[in-house]
Amino acid sequence: MMIEMQDVTRVYDMGGEEVRAVDGISLQVEEGEFVAIIGPSGSGKSTLMNLLACLDTPTSGTYRLDGVEVGKLDDDQLSLVRNSKVGLVFQSYNLLARMTALENVELPLLYGAHQGDAAAAKQALESVGLGDRLHYWPSQLSGGQQQRVAIARALINDPAIVLADEPTGALDTRSGLEVMDIFQRLNREGRTVVLVTHEQTIAEHARRVVSIRDGRIVADEAVASPRDARDELARLPMEEARR
Ligand code: ADP
Repeated sequence: MMIEMQDVTRVYDMGGEEVRAVDGISLQVEEGEFVAIIGPSGSGKSTLMNLLACLDTPTSGTYRLDGVEVGKLDDDQLSLVRNSKVGLVFQSYNLLARMTALENVELPLLYGAHQGDAAAAKQALESVGLGDRLHYWPSQLSGGQQQRVAIARALINDPAIVLADEPTGALDTRSGLEVMDIFQRLNREGRTVVLVTHEQTIAEHARRVVSIRDGRIVADEAVASPRDARDELARLPMEEARR
């Protein structure tokens, strides 16, 4: 089992008042799944994602990631688990502005458990269609290209799981579909992907959708026929021409 959460809560203390951002979530995700977690703003998605990514630990309950009990770890151990098991993708890309695309992708190699080399970084960028942008600064790339650099960076240590927090939130339709196409390809290759979104159409690219509200799971359903980002991309030019 890749993810095993049992009765997890995350309670914030707001000056004596408790905010139960995650309020008793039990969730299991097997290796090779593609899960979207969907919910409205304030439902606890980011809090849950931070727990899944080992950026935070539960107030109560247990969380096992790829067999490791996360709640018992100190900060150093937590970052070690995060760096070796998790590939993180954020809405805002989080690239370092003073580093080229290639340098950004190489960065995790300094901290990761699976020491790779520079050739691996180049290959990772080629695999997301940016082989001709290796030495560009982030500011010279479009939002969609920056997000693809971020995905290459997330993959460089060969993580057990890719976690993405609103990865298409800042992107136009085409760039968003290109990003979803990459996640679908990664999943077809066997990678476990968990993605947080507030957009139903984005969630429908996953094979399973978990809905949360007020910090709780209110639905957990398989997607009978997921949207295919590649198909949607192929149809886009026609729709653009029709306008
Ligand atoms: P979402 O990502 O779905 O918008 P969040 O996880 O950001 O939801 O927030 C869930 C709830 O927890 C909200 O009521 C929010 O105000 C509260 N919350 C989130 N982070 C904090 C924090 N650091 N301190 C206090 N309350 C927080």
